[in-house]
Amino acid sequence: MSALGAVLKRRIAAGGPIQVAEFMAECLLHPEYGYYSTRDPLGAAGDFTTAPEISQMFGELVGLALAQGWIDQGRPAPLALAEAGPGRGTLMADILRATRAVPGFHAALSLHLVEASPPLRRAQAAALAPFGITPHWHDAFSGLPDLPLFFVANEFFDALPIRQFIRAAAGWCERRVGLGKGGTLAFGVGDPAALPALAHRLADTRPGDMVEICPAAPAAIHEVTARISARGGLALIIDYGDWRSLGDTLQAVRGHAPVDPLACPGEADLTAHVDFEALACARAAGTAHSRLVPQGVWLERLGIAERARRLAAGLSGVGRDSHLRAYRRLTHPEEMGTLFKVLAFHPEGAPPPAGFAP
Ligand code: SAH
Repeated sequence: MSALGAVLKRRIAAGGPIQVAEFMAECLLHPEYGYYSTRDPLGAAGDFTTAPEISQMFGELVGLALAQGWIDQGRPAPLALAEAGPGRGTLMADILRATRAVPGFHAALSLHLVEASPPLRRAQAAALAPFGITPHWHDAFSGLPDLPLFFVANEFFDALPIRQFIRAAAGWCERRVGLGKGGTLAFGVGDPAALPALAHRLADTRPGDMVEICPAAPAAIHEVTARISARGGLALIIDYGDWRSLGDTLQAVRGHAPVDPLACPGEADLTAHVDFEALACARAAGTAHSRLVPQGVWLERLGIAERARRLAAGLSGVGRDSHLRAYRRLTHPEEMGTLFKVLAFHPEGAPPPAGFAP
């Protein structure tokens, strides 16, 4: 058992079972032992690989989509370019490189990163240093400035802690992490309890079903869309999940393989599928959301095939093979193309953002 596992077992022994959200929050962000507090988990040598780490094309197209939104809205200046959970800073570096040629964009922007992990903040500082734009780091979304906001989050919302509720005969019961036989961490179910606001997704449940809610997500979306409503802008949320998903989606990954979420607290990545309908419902008045579009379709509409062909023309041998594999990985329905989805928020009445045409 990990050091954090011992901490959590003592806490549960003293105070009783804890919410799945508390378990997840401690595993990911405990100041001393949390997964993100202590390491850079990304890439081949880490635990998982994300779209921007697969190919530069991902960040280039995200950057051009954001810049197109800025142009379509009349090039407001100054503007805030912002990202939540920027990982190693790769996506933002590709965004900045791809938008260098957009007249006036860099000169008008300030850069804002919402990031909780000290080691990843250091990695982001190093990745973004060549662009000569000093990032402002924020612990919370409330720190984002009151400016037209051009925002992206890739694989951020899946890292926010979730609570899980099971529909039992007697009512909704919360799943908790307690101690099982031999004192190991084990899932259990509490007594029926009042359910937090879940109205948008109770109608389609049956006895035995599990629903998940992510308490921090609506507040984050509200902070972002309130600025877009008041000042203009565009938000792109990219993650795995669905418009409405049902069942237990909590998963742990270590060394690129699934592991038991309770087995090694603080040493595996923990995520849950994103409930995009819950995000859409949390938007501020005066903003609209796009359709939920599969990542592969969105990237194809933005021209990834043409970009892939151009890059391939300058490559040969294994470099070309791995570039073409990366293109397939980002777009193919059997890889990331369908599992990952993109949702946009924009001011009501603004032109629909690039890649979301009906
Ligand atoms: N977007 C990056 C990294 C995804 S990993 C990529 O696509 O490669 C998740 C990121 O979110 C990490 O940078 C992690 O440190 C950050 N993160 C997780 N929970 C957070 C929270 N509650 N507040 C701020 N950042 C958080």
